[in-house]
Amino acid sequence: MAKKIGFISLGCPKNQVDSELMLKKLADAGYTLIDTPMGADAVIINTCGFIEAAKQEAIDNILEMAQYKEDGDVGKIIVIGCMAERYKEEILKEIPEVDAVAGLGVNGDIVPFVDNVFAGEATRSFPDKTALPLSGERILTTPEHWAYLKISDGCSNCCSYCAIPSIRGPFRSREMEDIIDEAKALAAAGVRELIVIAQDTTRYGLDLYGKLMLPDLLRELDVIDGIEWIRLLYCYPDRITDELLDTMAHSEKVLPYIDLPLQHADGRILAAMNRTGDRESLTALIAKIREYMPECVLRTTFITGFPGEDEEAFTELCEFVEEIGFDRLGCFAFSPEEGTPAEKMEPQVDGELAAHRGEVLMEQQYEIFSKKQQALVGKVVQCVVEDYDGYTDAYTGRTWMDAPEIDSAITFTSDRELAIGGFCNVEIIGVNEYDLLGRAEEEKGKRHGKKR
Ligand code: SF4
Repeated sequence: MAKKIGFISLGCPKNQVDSELMLKKLADAGYTLIDTPMGADAVIINTCGFIEAAKQEAIDNILEMAQYKEDGDVGKIIVIGCMAERYKEEILKEIPEVDAVAGLGVNGDIVPFVDNVFAGEATRSFPDKTALPLSGERILTTPEHWAYLKISDGCSNCCSYCAIPSIRGPFRSREMEDIIDEAKALAAAGVRELIVIAQDTTRYGLDLYGKLMLPDLLRELDVIDGIEWIRLLYCYPDRITDELLDTMAHSEKVLPYIDLPLQHADGRILAAMNRTGDRESLTALIAKIREYMPECVLRTTFITGFPGEDEEAFTELCEFVEEIGFDRLGCFAFSPEEGTPAEKMEPQVDGELAAHRGEVLMEQQYEIFSKKQQALVGKVVQCVVEDYDGYTDAYTGRTWMDAPEIDSAITFTSDRELAIGGFCNVEIIGVNEYDLLGRAEEEKGKRHGKKR
């Protein structure tokens, strides 16, 4: 009988795509994939090792599986992914219930590795991490109407706080034809929204083609039949070029939505982070983005409590956030990651103070965000329909301004039946904390997401 595999995917969308590629390989090899770890002959945990909170989540999951194993509900425990790549043997040593551990280079050979674990012939494998496959068929774990499209892996930016370059290796782009073929196949399978991801999407092509090719790629994706929305995540400020902005502004389907993690606004802190720019240059960049796309939704993330962040630098950050009025904002308290230059920088900021500053910043942002949400009341926006609740007779979905899993939702009523995964225009009638309330408009011909 086919062995049953439970699969737990942790961390970011890039890791999720890795999981989807491996799920397809395992299914093709005859393993039975099950939705729960209970009853699995093996549970594979694809971990994240980016920051302390991610590592803790991975450890909690492993320990939970160890308990299931002890209770006889799970056969073997296999730990793979970023945390495995980072801590290698330590995982086997610290958590003896783990049967096998493997680094990112195993992803392409996950089937022989799992075969060998079942045969009792493998407990560890750490091949070259750049062997991580960038493409291939996958089993989507997202709803049918949207999918991540990973265009590169690794990072060569070397921000001083970040372990990603050492975990995932240098930046590597996928061939453009390969990405376009995948996007076409996704569209043919019913995907309507592509979420373009990488560690640094804006660097796309530099390694393979000797120039920044994201604008070219977007122009190719823009003409694929069936795709309605294209959304860009993980952009790097230095590479937001005029060509990119012009391409976005003139495309049919690329949404005026940019996820632009800025990390800080104080020039001294940014330099210590091994990033460029300061409050003035970042303000100018955002003004330029808004010049090209006045309606552009800006998402960013910041780190509070980076070594050397004094009250003055934190105030600079708060003032910048107030002045810019980001549409969406996330915040992490600095976590000193082993082996990164920032781990040893002085003076370190007390962890509680770093967390407190994060809360202050998020409270400030909540006020900005609430005002922006209130300002939408009375407007009509294009939404994707994601679910229907028969009990309340209401739909849930997302506006074009909201990325799945990280941004807000909208709950709305409709006089006509709507298809899940379809698009409709919704009049915003209220705000419920982070989310919106609305009423679907009668169908009056298709209005494209960018012509609002
Ligand atoms: S851009 Fe900086 S923060 Fe982002 S993955 Fe690369 S090194 Fe890490």
